[in-house]
Amino acid sequence: MLRWIDVLKFARYGNPEPERRVEKSEEAWMQQLTPAQYQVMRQKGTESPYRNAYCRSYDPGVYVCAGCGSPLFNSTEKYHAISGWPSFTQPIIKAAIKYLYDDSHGMRRIEVQCNVCDGHLGHVFPDGPEPSGLRYCINSESLKRIDEKKDE
Ligand code: FE
Repeated sequence: MLRWIDVLKFARYGNPEPERRVEKSEEAWMQQLTPAQYQVMRQKGTESPYRNAYCRSYDPGVYVCAGCGSPLFNSTEKYHAISGWPSFTQPIIKAAIKYLYDDSHGMRRIEVQCNVCDGHLGHVFPDGPEPSGLRYCINSESLKRIDEKKDE
């Protein structure tokens, strides 16, 4: 399980090696993504709080990257953070996420990106619930949930 000290180490000393890499030109991303996805994922935009797809949704499934399809979070790690964005306490695997210092807007935050395609996801904060204490605050535009198949 990752904790804040691990996040700080990744941001400072380097991130875990991804299982694969997806690299595309800006033109190719623009073609593939919707304008809203492109603005968040490739231009580090932030969608509106609350009025986004997964903020209040707790259906079971795996949240994959909207850019490259890599699994990022499991619905079992999703919790209600009252922030207006989908929030998770832990990534699906350690190597799924990349951590980068972000000093924009006069604050020091840690940006999280998909470790495979470098798509912007959101930020991670040390005010999440125990045991990890982490809050991954993620834009819905960066995610796609693959719903769990229901038993017949
Ligand atoms: Fe990705």
